[in-house]
Amino acid sequence: MKLGLTFSALFGVSLCLESFVGHQVLRIKPKNEEEIKKLQHLETMGHLELDFWRNPTAPSFPADVRIPAKRVQLVKAFLESHGFEYSVLINDLQVVLDKEKQDMAHSQQKDRSTATFNYGTYHTLDSIYAELDHLASAYNDIVRKLQIGQSYEKRPLFVLKFSTGGRNRPAIWLDAGIHSREWVTQASAMWIAKQIASDYGKDPSTTSLLNKMDIFLLPVANPDGYVFTHTTNRMWRKTRSRNKGSLCVGVDPNRNWDAGFGGPGASNNPCSDSYHGPSANSEVEVKSIVDFIRNHGNIRAFLTLHSYSQLLMYPYGYKCTQPADYAELDDLGRAAAYSIRSIYDTIFRVGSICKTIYQASGGSIDWSYDYGIKYSFAFELRDTGRFGFLLPANQIIPTAEETWLGLKTIMEHVRDNP
Ligand SMILES: [Zn+2]
Repeated sequence: MKLGLTFSALFGVSLCLESFVGHQVLRIKPKNEEEIKKLQHLETMGHLELDFWRNPTAPSFPADVRIPAKRVQLVKAFLESHGFEYSVLINDLQVVLDKEKQDMAHSQQKDRSTATFNYGTYHTLDSIYAELDHLASAYNDIVRKLQIGQSYEKRPLFVLKFSTGGRNRPAIWLDAGIHSREWVTQASAMWIAKQIASDYGKDPSTTSLLNKMDIFLLPVANPDGYVFTHTTNRMWRKTRSRNKGSLCVGVDPNRNWDAGFGGPGASNNPCSDSYHGPSANSEVEVKSIVDFIRNHGNIRAFLTLHSYSQLLMYPYGYKCTQPADYAELDDLGRAAAYSIRSIYDTIFRVGSICKTIYQASGGSIDWSYDYGIKYSFAFELRDTGRFGFLLPANQIIPTAEETWLGLKTIMEHVRDNP
């Protein structure tokens, strides 16, 4: 570890890539509330080092959990002795990670020879940022690159602004990658950026949208985390800020918004993957978006991309009561899910965060909704657990295509209901 840090200081790269040899991902199907409680209790036992990819929520909805190699036998014995139903989703996580790395290296090699950005593969932050410049210059009549702040480790937070003119037009906000390991979201956001730019003047829907509204797209909301998933730990979800009084690093940036902050479904333990942070907006990545939206003053939709589970959710997460606009949001969510399904038959479930997954406080769309942005939605993209966060690169473009159809349905509604 020490050696890795020294090298990383010298050369800007880390040599201590975390190994996941023998880590298994299990799918556990709780049969009743009692089993859910047992799983939730398991989750709080820090020494087991369990990484819940999908939390236990309701009977019959599976929980997916990554288990370190040294705990696999113990956890399986526990599950069996307590009568849990489970199956193995991933038998050796490192094998899947190696394949992902190999695919990336292979396509990077190909890209170098053609000097173009391949939208069907995963990229480093540098490569994504270079493509933002390329899009801004190739489509300079409608695309501009803005910097809305910088991350804890001083990386720029870049937003693409799509606009055909007019001052302070009503606008749509779209971000991806606030959880860094959800790689298909940053990749989909890049494909969508290119699609918006190249569709203007060709596709009637995108054209009429941009003739009335602007779109702001933040493709990598958590750049420090994203770099860390490439250099050190592919499973990293949080920011990279230091926590006072703890050796554990990072805050869950989707528990850090000023909406029911610190309530149920967020942890006060800095070592937890859902640690809410010392105070609302403590994470500069979150604060930068909040400031941008407040300063803009005319954002009409707040859309955010996560993975995985294939869900389309509206507020609330911090409480289980329905939002005032429940009927409209639910109808619109269902219409968007219908559009998503129309191309590859990918099925999304629709509902409020609390009713669809679990009570979770301090989330972005709760903040944006309470702030007054009616059309606030969170997407959970592919898949439903076959690969989880390690979605093969050949699914990036299909995922982005269907997601864009869903987004467009929402954006058209926002355009027509000013
Ligand atoms: Zn997420």
